[in-house]
Formats: sequence, structure tokens, C-alpha cells
Amino acid sequence: MRKLIIANWKMNGNISKIKHDLESYAQNPITNQDNIIFALPYVFLDNASQVQKIYGAQYKISSQDISQFDGFGAYTGEVSGTILSDLGVEYAIVGHSERRKIGETSDVLAKKLELAINNKITPIYCIGESYEDRVENNYLIKLEKELEILFELNQLVSNIIIAYEPIWAIGTGLTPSIAQIDEIMRLIKVTVKKNLPNAYVSTIYGGSVIADNTKDFLESSLVDGLLVGGASLKAEEFIKICSCGQSVMSTT
Ligand code: PEP
Repeated sequence: MRKLIIANWKMNGNISKIKHDLESYAQNPITNQDNIIFALPYVFLDNASQVQKIYGAQYKISSQDISQFDGFGAYTGEVSGTILSDLGVEYAIVGHSERRKIGETSDVLAKKLELAINNKITPIYCIGESYEDRVENNYLIKLEKELEILFELNQLVSNIIIAYEPIWAIGTGLTPSIAQIDEIMRLIKVTVKKNLPNAYVSTIYGGSVIADNTKDFLESSLVDGLLVGGASLKAEEFIKICSCGQSVMSTT
């Protein structure tokens, strides 16, 4: 069964690291695979796209965000789906908790999802509850609410990745149990199937993924892949994660 491995570099990297790492990933059969996606800062997307073209690499390039405005125009600092698509970007993270924290509302996220889809960019839509929501048992309501904005997009969505990233697991070293992850993967699959019957949905997990816990997560048949933050910046660790992904794919 195909498993996605998405590297979220966040606000990290420089031109020489991008060039060095992506060139070596392009020449490594473990990482030169179309189930591997690199979500990079805007400024490096063109460099990444050039490396991808020169080496004919199979891996995919993602942005970490997309503008709520389309096309071109007087929106200083924004990068539209039109521009991303022109750069060869095929995926965009939408609604990461680190962006929700700085003020992204549901209306803005709904617009971003719509514009990604209109520009043939597959959204990687992130949802996740806070530690308080989890201990107070409000997490299901919170997650259902975050999923709701997808249902307005009914006719548009054909392909979407939904990442369950509990806020309390991001960058903390804490992770939910497989049973807790499976509960949410099931919730997403059932809810989305009911409301977006024509969409192909992949459900992935993110939050403190490292090489040592990759296998446990990927062995769940409900987990279609992983979103990897900190560990994706260390090439050796990331290669181990991808290698584990390939071996789970070959046995499931
Ligand atoms: C993330 O922020 O998307 C993430 C998964 O981070 P980390 O792996 O560092 O917890």
C-alpha cells in the first residue's frame, strides 16, 4: 500500500543545503520516489524545481502555504497558486497549526483550499487539537469543525491529503498511541467520504515522527503517510524514514 512521506522544512535551509540535499535525494533510489514530497520555504521552490528537472527526479515539491488571493496583483508579500503552479509546485500545505496560531481563520483557509485546487495543486490540509482539547475530551468536536470547511468545496475536490497533527505532538517528542491516531484517521475517512463522495482522500499523521517510530505509524492500514518536521532536516534520519516507508509499502 502506497505511503506518503512529506518533509516539512518550515523556516529552514539555505540555497546550498537545498541544492546539496535535493541533488543527493534525486540520486538515491530510496528517496527518488513519487511518494516523497518536500515542502520548502517559498524562496527555495524555484531552486528545488530546477534540481527536480535537471535530474528528472520523481519526488514532488510542495509549498508550505498559498495565498488567499489568486492570479497576480497588488498583494505585497503574497504568493498565489498561479505563481506556485508556474514554478512546478504540485502540493501546498494549508492550515498548519503554526499558521492558524498567527491568525488564519476558517474563511481564509477555505479560500486557500479552493485556490490550490483551482490551480491543480493538491492541498495538504492540516487539522489538530490542542492539549486542552484532548484532556477535556473536546478533540472530536474540534477536529470535525476543522474538517467542515472542506465540505463547501464539494464539486471541486478530486484529490486531497488530510494531515492529523495534534498540536501537542508537534516538536515536543510526544506522540499519540496508534489507537488514538487510528480513531482520527477513521473519523476523517468516514466524514470526508460522506461529504465529498467523489474525492480521493489520503489521511496522514504528523507530530514528532522520527526514524525509530516511523514503522509503528505506517503499519496502521489507516495511516496513508507521514508529515515529518524536525527529522526531515537531517538527511540521514530522513533517508531512514523513507527507507522504512518503502519496506512497509512492500509488505502491506
Ligand atoms: C510539523 O510541524 O508539521 C511537524 C510534524 O513537526 P515535527 O515533526 O517536528 O513534530
